[in-house]
Amino acid sequence: MGKIPTVMALRSRNIQIEDPSCTLCHYGDETVDHLFTSCSLAVRLWSLIRYWCNTPIFLVFSFRDLLEWHNHLGKSGRAKEAIKGIIIVACWSLWNARNEKRFLNLSARVENFFSQVKAVSFLWFVNRSSHKDVTWDDWCKFVNM
Ligand SMILES: [Zn+2]
Repeated sequence: MGKIPTVMALRSRNIQIEDPSCTLCHYGDETVDHLFTSCSLAVRLWSLIRYWCNTPIFLVFSFRDLLEWHNHLGKSGRAKEAIKGIIIVACWSLWNARNEKRFLNLSARVENFFSQVKAVSFLWFVNRSSHKDVTWDDWCKFVNM
């Protein structure tokens, strides 16, 4: 809906920001679609998530594609629900990583970042869904989903 205050969104609101490049990778303008789909950190994160959840390759070109990703993976039931939640947590984590880089100059290593997404999404899943019986070991292997 154009509400995420990326550099390009802020510039369109006449807020003066000299450098429009992505805060995380400095390649391409910082738009919502770039930050969440084509930024190098996002691409590596989605690849790790895809391998972890054993999903087929699904190319995303826009933020809207990400929000529909879980519907096109051949999963159903709680696996589909889990992947939807993982995508939301990953987006939130990408935004936090962007803000930590922009305002604190802290860089995220994708492996640490992926571990954080895995842990936070597990806590969300077992505490906010009706699937309380998923163990951390199953979650890490993405089995019995
Ligand atoms: Zn980028």
